[in-house]
Amino acid sequence: IPVDQFDLVIFGGTGDLARRKILPGLFRRFCAGQMPPDARIIGAARSDLDSAGYRQMIREAIAEFGGEQACGDEQLDAFLAQLEYVTIDALGEAGWSELQKLMEGSDRIEAYYFSVAPSLFGDIAERLQKWGMADTRARIVVEKPFGRDLETARALNKTLATYFNEDQIYRIDHYLGKETVQNLMAVRFGNMLFEPLWNSQYVDHIQITVAETVGVGGRGEYYDKSGAMRDMVQNHLMQLLCLIAMEPPARFDPDAVRDEKLKVIRALDPVLAHHIVRGQYQAEPCNEAENPGYRTAVDNPRSRTESFIALRTEISNWRWAGTPFYLRTGKRMAARSSEITVVFKDTPHSIFGDEAGSHRNVLSIRLQPNEGITLGVTIKEPGPGGMRLIDVPLDMSFAETLDPEDIEHVDAYERLIMDVIRGNQTLFMRGDEVEAAWAWTDPIINGWVTRNDVPKPYDHGTTGPTDAEDMIRRDGRKWRKIT
Ligand code: NAD
Repeated sequence: IPVDQFDLVIFGGTGDLARRKILPGLFRRFCAGQMPPDARIIGAARSDLDSAGYRQMIREAIAEFGGEQACGDEQLDAFLAQLEYVTIDALGEAGWSELQKLMEGSDRIEAYYFSVAPSLFGDIAERLQKWGMADTRARIVVEKPFGRDLETARALNKTLATYFNEDQIYRIDHYLGKETVQNLMAVRFGNMLFEPLWNSQYVDHIQITVAETVGVGGRGEYYDKSGAMRDMVQNHLMQLLCLIAMEPPARFDPDAVRDEKLKVIRALDPVLAHHIVRGQYQAEPCNEAENPGYRTAVDNPRSRTESFIALRTEISNWRWAGTPFYLRTGKRMAARSSEITVVFKDTPHSIFGDEAGSHRNVLSIRLQPNEGITLGVTIKEPGPGGMRLIDVPLDMSFAETLDPEDIEHVDAYERLIMDVIRGNQTLFMRGDEVEAAWAWTDPIINGWVTRNDVPKPYDHGTTGPTDAEDMIRRDGRKWRKIT
C-alpha cells in the first residue's frame, strides 16, 4: 500500500548510513510500489555537490548496497529523478534558504532525517525552526547514539523539545524494525498458549545474546569512547528485554506499547558487580595484521573500554521477581547471532524416572541470521528402546513454513522510514524510555570507573572471557551455544 505523498530531507545524505541503508532501503520501497511517484528525497550535507552529482553518488551506492530485491534500470532512473541535493552547513547559514525554498508551500508530509553526528542535532533543529520548517507537521528522525549518559540524553531531549513536540520525534533503534521483533509481539499477544506461562512461576530464566564476528573496524575512535554497554546494551538489548518482559499493552499503539516498556525499565534491578563481566578481544593468532586486538584496533594501548559484556539482572515486579535475565553482547565472537531464549522450568515431577533425563522447553527467537522462532518440546524417542525422551524443535521459521513468494523481506530501516511517513511511532523510542534506560546504565558504568575495572581479555572467535561462563555456571545454568 503506497504511503501518502512526502518530502524527506536527509541531513547527512552523503554519509555512510545514508548510502548503505537509507537510500538503498528507499529504493527498495520504490520498487515495491510503496513510495508515491512524486515523493521527494532531498539530500542535505556538507559535500559540494549538485543534484546530478548526488544522483550519481546514490546510483553507485545502490549498485553496491542495493541488495537483490532492487528492480531494473528504468526504475532506478525514475527513483533517482526524485532525488535532489542541497549543500548545507548545519553549523552556519549556508544552504538553508535554498532548502527553505524547496520545502516552501509543500502540503505534504515533511520528514527530516538527522543522519549526522549527534552533536549537530541541536543546531539542525534550531535552524529548521529559524527557517520556518519546524511547524507541527514536521517529523524528525534521530539516529543513535541518543546521549552518552542520563545527563546528556536529558539535555538532548530538552533541546529537541524546544523545537518539536514528542509526537514529532522519531528516535530510531533499528532492532525494533526487525521482522522477528514484531513477530515476538505477535507470538506473545496473538496466542493463548504462551502468555499464561510467561512469568517467574514457569520461566526459569531468559537469555539475550547479540554476538558479532566483526571487530570495531573503522569506528575505533567512536567505539573506544562508548563500549558495548553504551553501544549495544543501553539501547538494542534493553529494547529486546522490554518487549520480552512487558505486560500486554491494551492496544498495539505507540503510547500503550511504550508505557509498558517504560515500566519494565523502571523495574530493572541495579546490577551487582559480581553479575557483570567485561571483556576485550585479543588479536587473531598468526593473523594480527588483518584481525588486530581491540587496543590496537582503537589505537589506545591502555584502553579499558569493553568490546564484550555479559550481565545478569532481574525485574522487580509481580510477573518476573526471581527470574534472572542474562544479557550478553560482544565483538569478534564465534558467530554472528542475535537470539532471545526463554528457558522454561523443569516439569515439577518426572513420571519417567531418572533414566529419561531432565528436559526443558526452550523458546528461541532468532533475529539473525535465519530469522525465526523455535519451540523445543520433549517427545518420546521413536523406536523400541523404552520411554526415552528427546527434545525436538517445533519450528516457526517463516522461510520454511510460508511460501517464499508471499514473504516480502523488508530491511529494518525501510520499515521504520515508512513508519515515519505513516506517522506511527510504535517502533520508536520515547524520550522518557531513553532516559530511564540511561538511569539504569549510568550506575553500572560509574561502578566500574570507580573500581578501575579492567576488562578481561578473550580470544578472537570465542564466546568471550571464561568469567562469563563462570558467572552463569554459578547459578547452575549455562549460556546458549552461539551458532
Ligand atoms: P558519516 O560520517 O559517514 O556522515 C556524516 C554526514 O554528515 C555526511 O553526509 C556529512 O556531509 C554530514 N555533515 C557533517 N558535518 C556537517 C555539517 N556541519 N553540516 C552539514 N552536514 C554535515 O556518518 P554516518 O556513519 O553516516 O552516521 C550518521 C549518524 O548515524 C550518526 O549519528 C551515527 O552515530 C548514526 N549511525 C550510523 C550507523 C552506520 O552504520 N553508519 C549506524 C547506526 C547509527
